[in-house]
Amino acid sequence: MFDVIIAGCGPTGAMLAAELRLHEVRVLVLEKEPEPGSFVRIVSLHMRSLELMAMRGLLDRLLERGRRRPVGGIFAAIPKPAPEGLDSAHAYLLGIPQPVVNQLLRDHATELGAQVRVGRAVAGFEQDDEGVTVELADGERLRSRYLVGCDGARSTVRKLLGVGFPGEPSRADTLMGELELGAPPEEIAAKVAEIGGTDKRLNIRPFGEGVYSVVVPAAGVREDRAEPPTLEDFRHQLRAIAGTDFGAHSPRWLSRFGDATRLAERYRVGRVLLAGDAAHIHPPAGGQGLNLGVQDAVNLGWKLAAQIRGWAPEALLDTYQAERRPVAADVLDNTRAQVELHSAEPGAQAVRRLLTELMDFDEVNRYLTEKITAIGIRYDFGAGPDLLGRRLRDIDLKQGRLYDRLRRGRGLVLDRTERLTVAGRPDRVDLVADPTAALDVPAVLLRPDGHVAWIGEHQPDLDDHLTRWFGRPA
Ligand SMILES: Cc1cc2nc3c(=O)[nH]c(=O)nc-3n(C[C@H](O)[C@H](O)[C@H](O)COP(=O)(O)OP(=O)(O)OC[C@H]3O[C@@H](n4cnc5c(N)ncnc54)[C@H](O)[C@@H]3O)c2cc1C
Repeated sequence: MFDVIIAGCGPTGAMLAAELRLHEVRVLVLEKEPEPGSFVRIVSLHMRSLELMAMRGLLDRLLERGRRRPVGGIFAAIPKPAPEGLDSAHAYLLGIPQPVVNQLLRDHATELGAQVRVGRAVAGFEQDDEGVTVELADGERLRSRYLVGCDGARSTVRKLLGVGFPGEPSRADTLMGELELGAPPEEIAAKVAEIGGTDKRLNIRPFGEGVYSVVVPAAGVREDRAEPPTLEDFRHQLRAIAGTDFGAHSPRWLSRFGDATRLAERYRVGRVLLAGDAAHIHPPAGGQGLNLGVQDAVNLGWKLAAQIRGWAPEALLDTYQAERRPVAADVLDNTRAQVELHSAEPGAQAVRRLLTELMDFDEVNRYLTEKITAIGIRYDFGAGPDLLGRRLRDIDLKQGRLYDRLRRGRGLVLDRTERLTVAGRPDRVDLVADPTAALDVPAVLLRPDGHVAWIGEHQPDLDDHLTRWFGRPA
C-alpha cells in the first residue's frame, strides 16, 4: 500500500514525488519508458521555477549544467531587453537540456526516498472510498490512497478519468531533430538568412562536426505523434522550404510537435488528480510548459501530503485546482496571443509592430515579463494588501537567506516583531524571528510554495490563518 502513486516520471511527476517525500509520504512513481528518450530539447527555466529550485536546494546543480541568459525577448520573441530591477534574486533565464532537468529532478526524488519503477505503464484504475487500485500494462495491480496523473499530453489517467480536454487541435506540426548536414556551413547559413527574410519558417543551428539542430514545418498535422518522423520526412520538408535538403543524413534523434491548446475541465476527481501536461497543453511560445508543470507540483505536493498526514483543513486539496487552473488558462491565452503575433498576415504583423512600440513603456514590458516568468502570479486569498497571495522574493536574513529556510517544504512565519509563535504545529510550520529581515511589513506567513498567506503582527490573527492553511494544532 502506497500513499500516492504517480503516473509518469517527467519533470512534473519527479518534482511532485520529491515534494511529497519532504513530508515522508510513501510515494511510488511509475514510468512507462524503460529508459530516458534520446532527444535533447533545450528548454528555458524561468524566474519562478529558478526560485523554486533555490527553495529546494537544487539551483546550483542546475546552474552547473545550463546557460544563463538575460530575461529579454521572451514574449513572442519581441526583441526588447527585460525591464530594470525585476523583483527576483534570480532575474535571468536558464537554457538547459530537458533530459538534464528530468534526471536532476528524478535523482532529487529518489534521494529523498521516492521509489521510481521504469518500464511500468499505468493502464487502468478504480477508485473507492479508501483508495485507488492501479492496474499496470503487465496486469500487476497496486494499491494507493491517491493517484496523480503526471503522464503528459496524451495522459492515460486523464482519459480513463473521463475528464474533458477541450480546446483547439493542432493547426500546424513542426519537425525538430538533430542530424548531420553534408552541405558547406556557409551555404547553410546563407540559405537560413535568406529564408529568415521571408514568411517561411526554418531554423538550423550548428552543434559542430557537421551536426545541426533542424526545426522545420511538417507537411501536415498528425493527431498521433507517438511515431517519430523519418529522415525522409525531414529531407522532403527541407526541399519544400529551402529548395535543398542540405545532404541531410545520420539523424541522432527526430521528433514532431504540434500547437494544440487544451485545458482539462477538472484537475481532481475524488482520489485522482492531474498535473503538468496531463492537465494543460499549448504551443512552446515563451517556453512555459515545463515551468508550469513543476509549479503545479510544488502547489499540489504539500496539500496532498497534508491530506495524507491527516492535518489538512477542509477543502485545502481543492485549492490546488482553484489556484492552478486559472494560471494554466492564462498561459494558454498568452501562448494563443503569441502564436497570432508570429503570423505573417498583415493584420497580425501590424499588431506585432504596435505591441513592439508599447513594450518601450516600462509597465507593459514588466507586466509581460512577469507573466511569462510566472513571478507575477497572485492567488486569490481574499481581500488584503497587494503582497497577499503573491510569492515573496528571496531576501537576506540575519543568518543566511530566506529560501534556505524553506528547504523542508514547510510553512514559515517570518517575524520582525520577535513576538509571534507557531506553537502546536512543529511538523508543519517554522518560525524565523529576525528584526533585520528586509521586509516592509511586521510579519508574514509563507506557505511551503513561498506564497504569502498572511501579513500582520497580532498573534490571534496569525493563529486563525495558521488554522486556515495548516489545520488545528496537534
Ligand atoms: C519544442 C518544444 C519546446 C519546449 N520548450 C519548453 C521550454 O523552453 N520551457 C518549458 O517550460 N517547456 C517547454 N516545452 C514543454 C515541456 O517539454 C513540457 O511541458 C514538459 O515536458 C511537461 O512535463 P510533464 O512531466 O508534465 O510531462 P512529460 O514531460 O510529457 O512527462 C510525462 C511522462 O509520463 C510518462 N508516461 C506517459 N504515459 C504513461 C503511463 N500510462 N504510465 C506511466 N508513465 C507514463 C512518459 O513516458 C513521460 O516520461 C517545450 C515543448 C516542446 C515540444
